[in-house]
Amino acid sequence: MMKLIMKLCLFCIDIVYPNRCPCCNCFIEWNRYICDECEAEVKVDADVFCRSCGKVKQECICAVLPAYDRAAVVSFYEGKSKTALISMKESSNRNFGRYAGENLGKWIEQQPDWMEADGIVAVPMHWTKKLLRGYNQADVIAKSISSVTGIPVEKKCIIKRYSRKAQHKLGAKERAENVYSFISGGRDLEGRKLILCDDIITTGSTMSRCAEILKECGADVVYAAAAATTRRKREG
Ligand SMILES: [Zn+2]
Ligand SMILES: [Zn+2]
Repeated sequence: MMKLIMKLCLFCIDIVYPNRCPCCNCFIEWNRYICDECEAEVKVDADVFCRSCGKVKQECICAVLPAYDRAAVVSFYEGKSKTALISMKESSNRNFGRYAGENLGKWIEQQPDWMEADGIVAVPMHWTKKLLRGYNQADVIAKSISSVTGIPVEKKCIIKRYSRKAQHKLGAKERAENVYSFISGGRDLEGRKLILCDDIITTGSTMSRCAEILKECGADVVYAAAAATTRRKREG
């Protein structure tokens, strides 16, 4: 029923604000998230990625032991998918998050171990940023995975906070990165199997830190799902 209402709303919104492809900005049907041409370009074969860390196999970071157990990724953070992920942050076009979430959801449905997960957790955004943007892009992906798989979205497992601790020994860049940190939301996650999701895996450190927190709260298994991953070298 909720899905039907949601579809009806999207249809009505489309009459006033036509639906656009997040990659090339062309008009697309109200019930689509991306145009066919762009989809063919952004979608990467699942075998290209390391199933444990979510990086391209040649740049696997498993040796530095990410705290999450396995990973799933849809695209590379470059070209059209980079444009789409930036548009999700800057122009409120959430289609790429929905597209990526739906794709991840369909893939997860085929994996018996991932389907044992009993909750989906989005990497949080600081509340002031969420207030300004109106949404957290990781939430969009989480909800979309949930609507395909039926696995519920869990709230308040992790909190992103702003800390003012003295950091004068750090360089400017490190300082900017260290102003925000993740802490536990205080929930008991004993024995839980969770899917953690975010928009981009870069070094894996954000996903890793969040997975660590979930495990400190008792989670047994944490799978990481992301819309895109970065890579150093482009092929061809
Ligand atoms: Zn397009
Ligand atoms: Zn790996």
